[in-house]
This record gives sequence, structure tokens and C-alpha cells, in this order.
Amino acid sequence: MPPREVAAAGPSPVSRPLTGWGGGPAAHAWVVRPTDADQLTAALRRARPPGAIARGLGRSYGDAARLSGGLVLDATGLRGWTLAADAGQVTAAAGETIAGLLRALAPRGWLLPVVPGTQHVTVGGAIASDIHGKNHPSAGSFGRHVTALGLLRSDGEVLELRPDDARFHATVGGMGLTGAILWATIALRPIDGTALAVEVARAGDLDGALDALCSCEAEYRVAWLDLLGTTPGRGVVTRARHVAGDETRVPRRTRFDVPAVGGRGLLAPAVGRAYNALRFAAAPRRGRRRDFSGEMFPLDALGAWPRLYGRHGLAQYQFVVPDGRERVLHEAIARVRRHRVPCYLAVLKRFGAGGRSPLSFPLPGFSLAMDLPRAAPGLAVLAGELDELVAAAGGRVYLTKDALLRPDALRAMYPRLSEWQRTRAAMDPAGIWRSDLALRTGLLDAA
Ligand SMILES: Cc1cc2nc3c(=O)[nH]c(=O)nc-3n(C[C@H](O)[C@H](O)[C@H](O)COP(=O)(O)OP(=O)(O)OC[C@H]3O[C@@H](n4cnc5c(N)ncnc54)[C@H](O)[C@@H]3O)c2cc1C
Repeated sequence: MPPREVAAAGPSPVSRPLTGWGGGPAAHAWVVRPTDADQLTAALRRARPPGAIARGLGRSYGDAARLSGGLVLDATGLRGWTLAADAGQVTAAAGETIAGLLRALAPRGWLLPVVPGTQHVTVGGAIASDIHGKNHPSAGSFGRHVTALGLLRSDGEVLELRPDDARFHATVGGMGLTGAILWATIALRPIDGTALAVEVARAGDLDGALDALCSCEAEYRVAWLDLLGTTPGRGVVTRARHVAGDETRVPRRTRFDVPAVGGRGLLAPAVGRAYNALRFAAAPRRGRRRDFSGEMFPLDALGAWPRLYGRHGLAQYQFVVPDGRERVLHEAIARVRRHRVPCYLAVLKRFGAGGRSPLSFPLPGFSLAMDLPRAAPGLAVLAGELDELVAAAGGRVYLTKDALLRPDALRAMYPRLSEWQRTRAAMDPAGIWRSDLALRTGLLDAA
């Protein structure tokens, strides 16, 4: 590039440095922000090698939503939604955010059935990553609730895809590599208000946390783990369910933006240990009522928090292992500690049945997400060891969080990769859709 000018409506691409949410080294790409589907189609005609990729709010942690030297189609300008209350469905443009939809839908008695740990993601990003929430055992992942979607192919054709089509499932969890999602119809969950009844239990160790996540019927379940203290894996398990009430608001809640911090940032193992001890001790002993956004999106209270990690940023290693392979969770935590890579945040979740999409992340078992400083010596070696452990157990890492995975590990972890590649190749014969994630991990390379 730079891209050749063509006679088309809409803004021109601008060269910008892009990172993922985890921060770290930026890569330049040509970014354009169309405000409707026609502008997006016109912008796509400017794509030249190395290609193009769609981007939402950039909450994926690594390099999934960028293409070095390529065209990045910022889809956040695609806005608008329509509620079909009779059918219990919303049709939303791909750039609509979970935050915006929740604020609009909750007062009308509806919720999105699956939300991630932040409300600042787009509908397009939620589908492309097939995101999961704290209610995965009962609700599955986001794609389960999508009844139709509009997809812009690389040749300019717009497809309307439904769940009876393999191309639909290649797009759900397909990390933007089948096309640009323009809109989606999503089946909603009816609610009597946004209040939740929340119970909190302390778990003395990892096995206690695993038990507490399984031994209840609460809709939303999650455990925060302390991996820095003397008993690694002790934690706080939160279980929540909807209760009727008058509350219907879903506020944004960012209270404070972390300023830019240079060098290695503000975190240190001693600080993390002290914070974790306080958090464990301060966990409420009695059940309480909380509003939906406070419970679902606690990290949103602190804006730009990856800056705490300094200029190198953080890598999140999120993996899932199948039921019966819980020893791998113990071993993974032991390896993190052996390599002296400090884990400042660890979140454990229970997963239920997986979805139908070949690249969808969840499978029945447990998922552990660990936030690790990218500057930590030994991180790459640790990640390689973890990849081997996880793959040997029949588990996988979550592509939307990834910054470290190598091609051999990807193939071992995603056994339906070739099936996805065949469907994808037929959808994009010119090979326009690419991302730094795809190039790094060999997602597009046939075996
Ligand atoms: C604090 C925090 C908590 C999180 N918690 C969870 C969680 O609990 N569960 C979970 O599953 N995820 C979680 N995530 C990850 C997040 O939900 C996903 O990375 C999501 O995809 C981000 O959406 P986005 O709009 O920012 O997309 P981006 O990060 O911009 O893009 C992500 C992927 O989607 C593709 N994409 C984006 N828009 C489109 C489009 N219009 N058409 C085609 N492809 C597109 C991109 O190409 C890229 O591959 C969390 C992230 C953060 C920062």
C-alpha cells in the first residue's frame, strides 16, 4: 500500500498504529471508518495485498483485529437497531455495542443472552469471536442466539446467512476471516429488571473453586483466583441469578481512566500479593443484590487498565480443558509459578456444551484466563509449555485473547481447522481477508 484512490463515497484510509487491548508493540495499518454498508463496500475495493480485516472496538487482546500494512475496516460506524418485541429479537448493525444495546433493551424488558466481561465490544466482534459469558453452561456462546447475519464478501456480494448454512458457522468464531459482518439478528432473553441476587464463597484452593463452580444451579458463575499467594488457586467464587425488581438501568460505570505509564508499569508481585490478600479477606460474607453491569463488568470501572502493565502491555493466556482433565489446571498454575511469571489476574469459568462452529472456543470443562506481563522473561517459553500441556489434554486457547500461539499448537488444538479452512477458502477465493493473528498462527495455511 498505500491504497489507490478509487471513485467511491466515504472516508479515505489513514495510516495508524494499532495494538490489541493488551497493548505492547503497535503495527501500522490503513484504517478506514465507514458509516454504512455502501461505504464499507466501497472501502473494501481499496484493499490491496496484504489484504483487509474488520475491526470492532479492539477489545481482543492480541493481533486479531489488525493487519500490518493492510486495510483495517473499522466497523464501529455501522449503527442502528430494530427490536421485534413479538419475536423477542433485535436486529443490530455490526458496530452497535453490547453497552448500547443493553442500555436500550433492558428498560424494555430484554437482555442479550450472552455478554462478555466488558460491555465495550461490538456485535461484529461478539460474533467473530463467538464470545461466552459467565452463564455458558446454560446459555452457550453468543452464536447460539444469532438467527441470521449479513456478511460482506471480499467480492462485494452481501450474503444473508442462517444457522442451516456452513458459511454461517465458519463466520461465528471465524475471527473476521470469512468477511465483514454488517448486521445480525439476535434472540433476546426476557427479564423482570436487571437486579441480581449474588452469593459469594471463599475457596481455600483450586479444587474448592472447581467444586463451588459446579455445585450450584446459579445462572452466572465465575471464580477469581489468587495465583501469587502462598496457596496458589485459592479464590472467591461468585454465583448470581436474576431476581424481579424495578431496576432496569445498565450504566457504563467507568470511574477512572488509568493514565499512560511508561517502563514496566505499576504492577509488581509484592503489590499483587497484597491486593489479592485484601480482596480475599474483603469478599462479602452475606448474599446481596447487585445491578447487572456492576456484577458482569467489574473491570469496566477502570478505563484503559492495561496501562498498569507499562509500555510492553500484557498477554492473556486463556485456555479450556475438557471435563476430567482438571489436573492440567493445577499443572498450568505450577508452571506459571515455576517460570516466575507473575499472574496479576486469573479468572476461572465453567463451560457447558460447545457450539456448532469449527473455530468456537468453548467445550465442556473449565476455562482459566491468566493476565501475564509481556515483559516477563520466560513468557514465550512458558507459553510454549502451556500450549503443549493444553493440546495434549484435548484443550485449546482462545484465539481472541491470543498473542503467543504457534502454528503447530493451533492445529493440535482445533481439530476442525481444515473443515473451517475449506469453507472459508470458498467464501474468499481471492484471499483478501487476513489478520496478523492469521498470519502468525497459520490459521489460513492448509495442512
Ligand atoms: C476486559 C475484557 C473482558 C473480556 N471478557 C470476555 C469474556 O468474558 N468472554 C469472551 O468471550 N470474551 C471476552 N473478552 C474478549 C472480547 O469479548 C472479544 O475479543 C470481542 O471479540 C471483542 O469485540 P470487539 O468489538 O472489540 O472486536 P475486536 O477486538 O475489534 O475484533 C475481534 C475479532 O472480531 C473481528 N471483527 C470485529 N468486527 C467485525 C465485523 N464487523 N465483521 C467481521 N469480523 C469482525 C475482528 O476481525 C477480530 O478477529 C473480553 C475482553 C476484555 C477487554
